[in-house]
Amino acid sequence: PETKLPKVGTTIFTVMSQLAAEHRAVNLGQGFPDFAVPERLIDELDRAMRDGFNQYAPAHGLPQLREAIAEKSERCYGHRPDVNAEITVTSGASEAIFDAVHALVRPGDEVIVLDPCYDCYEPAIDLAGGVAVHVPLDPVTFAPDWEKVSAAISPRTRLLMINTPHNPSGAMLGQDDIAQLTALLRGTGIFLLSDEVYEHIVFDGARHESILRHKELRERALVISSFGKTYHCTGWKVGYCVAPPAMTAEFRKVHQYNTFCTFAPAQSAFAAMIRAEPEHYEQLGAFYQAKRDRFREQLLTTKLKPLPVPGGYFQLVDYSDVSDLDDAAFCRWLTTEHGVAAIPLSPFYETPPAGQRLARLCFAKNEATLDEAIARLLKL
Ligand code: PMP
Ligand code: GLN
Repeated sequence: PETKLPKVGTTIFTVMSQLAAEHRAVNLGQGFPDFAVPERLIDELDRAMRDGFNQYAPAHGLPQLREAIAEKSERCYGHRPDVNAEITVTSGASEAIFDAVHALVRPGDEVIVLDPCYDCYEPAIDLAGGVAVHVPLDPVTFAPDWEKVSAAISPRTRLLMINTPHNPSGAMLGQDDIAQLTALLRGTGIFLLSDEVYEHIVFDGARHESILRHKELRERALVISSFGKTYHCTGWKVGYCVAPPAMTAEFRKVHQYNTFCTFAPAQSAFAAMIRAEPEHYEQLGAFYQAKRDRFREQLLTTKLKPLPVPGGYFQLVDYSDVSDLDDAAFCRWLTTEHGVAAIPLSPFYETPPAGQRLARLCFAKNEATLDEAIARLLKL
């Protein structure tokens, strides 16, 4: 029988985490921190449950959390979205991406995605009856070629999906990209989905070009983020979407029948946490930069070659001095024979670049975890 997602199997993150567990490998594959969430956040969650935040939250999100998100957006990006009409709290960025695609994409509509791209984009497009149009990023810098994006636009193009800082490469859009993107979309009816889940994990003094900073673009954009990345709690699955009122109204039609609302105690806890400790997200870049720099120096003593990491918590490594296996086979071999789990890049592409020899390592880990991984990688 015809299935709805014939190309989909088990995600690479699940596959590699299972393999890592079976082989007792150090798991630098699936992206998640192995250190504690802030103590205050746990206290706030505990308090929220004792204070009775245990029933359905308002479908759009607790008002105090939407208020805190609006304040944070104003502080960080100089734009305060309307608390009632422009912010919706979701069960992770994943739900927000799914809702956004389903709210906008009609059967036959085209959606441009930039490869390599995060694995949940295309299945959402497929289920909505849309057609994913893949445009490759630069194979070395992972920067978009806006002329190629322009050439991919057709009368059927409904949505363009971008991701900055980018998973898996860490690349970030700069002001020049924003200018080109703005010019490209001007006068079209194309919507923009901006996946900014790593918004606070940026390095070397760079500025995160949130679409919320840019008036012309944000008027056609859904900007999506996740507290899982910012507060070291990927398992809590709380995210949000900021979009203009008319787009938010459509987004909420899907959200209300998908999950209706998101885990109420965590919403209360994040609202309190964002306000009480703004320094947490302000210092997140420095926190991860120290990890990146230390890990990178250690990697330079191995046969793996680290690529630059402008943002996010993934380090790409070129393994061509170690092996000529393709990336999927290399990552399996690294996990089973050397006890370090990594993620291949090919599942992030429609057509992976021929001969690409890159693997993704997550450095959102304690020093001891990374040290153990390095000790094993030194034996390559
Ligand atoms: N987008 C990107 C680029 C991601 O890396 C992730 C998490 N791995 C998500 C979306 C999903 O975020 P969440 O866990 O909040 O659903
Ligand atoms: N976003 C995480 C990553 O890129 C994985 C999340 C998941 O397993 N679905 O590693």
